[in-house]
Amino acid sequence: MTSIDFFGGVDEIGGNKIRVKGENGSFFFDFGMGFSKANDYLSEFLQPRKANGIMDFVALSLLPYIKGIYREDYLRHVGLNYQQKPSVDGVLISHSHVDHVAYVHHLREDIPIYLSRESYLILKALEDTGTASFSEYLHLKKSFQLEPKLRGEGYKRSSAIKVDRDIRIVEPYKGFDIGDFHIKAAPVDHSLPGASAFISENGEETMVYTGDLRFHGRNPELTHKFVKEAKKANPTIMISEGTRIDQDTNISEEDIEERAVKEVAACKGLVVVNYPVRDLDRLLTFYKVAQDTDRKLVVNLKQAYLLSLFQGDDNEYPELGDVMIYKPRKGWGLVGNENYACVEDEWICADDIASAESLRDYKKWEREFLKADNTLTYKDLQEEPLEYIFRCDFFELKELIDIKPENGIYIKSSTEPFDEQMEINEAKVQKWLDLFNLPLLNKRFHASGHANGKEILNMIRDINPEKVYPVHTKDKENKEKFLELEEDGIEIIYPTLSHKS
Ligand SMILES: [Zn+2]
Repeated sequence: MTSIDFFGGVDEIGGNKIRVKGENGSFFFDFGMGFSKANDYLSEFLQPRKANGIMDFVALSLLPYIKGIYREDYLRHVGLNYQQKPSVDGVLISHSHVDHVAYVHHLREDIPIYLSRESYLILKALEDTGTASFSEYLHLKKSFQLEPKLRGEGYKRSSAIKVDRDIRIVEPYKGFDIGDFHIKAAPVDHSLPGASAFISENGEETMVYTGDLRFHGRNPELTHKFVKEAKKANPTIMISEGTRIDQDTNISEEDIEERAVKEVAACKGLVVVNYPVRDLDRLLTFYKVAQDTDRKLVVNLKQAYLLSLFQGDDNEYPELGDVMIYKPRKGWGLVGNENYACVEDEWICADDIASAESLRDYKKWEREFLKADNTLTYKDLQEEPLEYIFRCDFFELKELIDIKPENGIYIKSSTEPFDEQMEINEAKVQKWLDLFNLPLLNKRFHASGHANGKEILNMIRDINPEKVYPVHTKDKENKEKFLELEEDGIEIIYPTLSHKS
């Protein structure tokens, strides 16, 4: 018998961890972090301890305790049993948002991770440029390792040994097998590159998993093709997202572009915008807004790195050389002539300090970008505010102290806060904007990554499975919206959290 167990994504937006087990072969759809659940217990300085392996996560019900899936170092360090072979044959990643992928960090490195090339590139960017702990997606650094001391007796801690995970990049609609399951990845449109749905069949069930998707992004044809192919497969089971099942309108990237062009054209100062760093479609939107208003888009080093990974591919994203890269003051902050350093009792100006020295404030990957001639500093934004649209996320608000914008605007092009922590941060943003007299423009400047209710229901009708499991959705009223499908002879099953292991 083929069974499905839900270890996340039930009554919450995200945190999908869905195990499918057949007579021969088993796999997970996604292995993500449940944001709201994590935020219920944790905050910036209250984080799970690595010292306790997976067990802090298990104690808070963030990770299910399942034998045979977690990494050896984390299990054995706290005296837990580690078995020879993994108990699951693969993890299919629908896309590289943390609510679908974050907890891959905790998995054994010999469990194959199936994902699209774009999802892989995003994880690479996260691994190469991120500072967050628990983010070993493509590699695993073995912790708690000792080695014999060179001199004398005993052991010392050895530096982490990095091993590759078993990464399998999947091509659109090119089938692959896990045990008896024959599986295809179906690209869909979502708010970052590389999102996939999956269609899987074994002798018993044909299963469709939507991941997160929409029909109103820049590539709706992808999602439409998925619906067509899923319908052809004649599924018995569909696991569908329902994030916006209670809503019936959409804002598109074109809507945002049009509205933003108007505001930016009328702005007599610096335009500051915040949009999600991995949403390259949104980057493209503000790149176009900049083009239409004779400005240049300024991105930070992390977004420049991500964009660099997508160069040369068949996509619409701008060339790296066509955006400006912001050089923040870090470390000693030796930018321009307003900083000094002391040499033999004499204070010399930053301008006279060798640029190689000032580069030392930056990480190795950052230095590569700072050598390019399309970088700029706060001074450029201060001197020629009308030339630029400056992407500034929450952690970069401090740059405003250097820039001191006048007559500017701030466009918030990201999702509305959906938990307490986000509301607190939102209030902080407002304080910063007040301090610099930046009016906040936040009405209809964000396009959701998720289809609306009508589209979800029509998609399911089109695909016409026997049963639907709604996931990635919450609130009873919302869930009940799926019941409408019973008139079409489709059975709705609300999954419950599994406690099996
Ligand atoms: Zn999600």
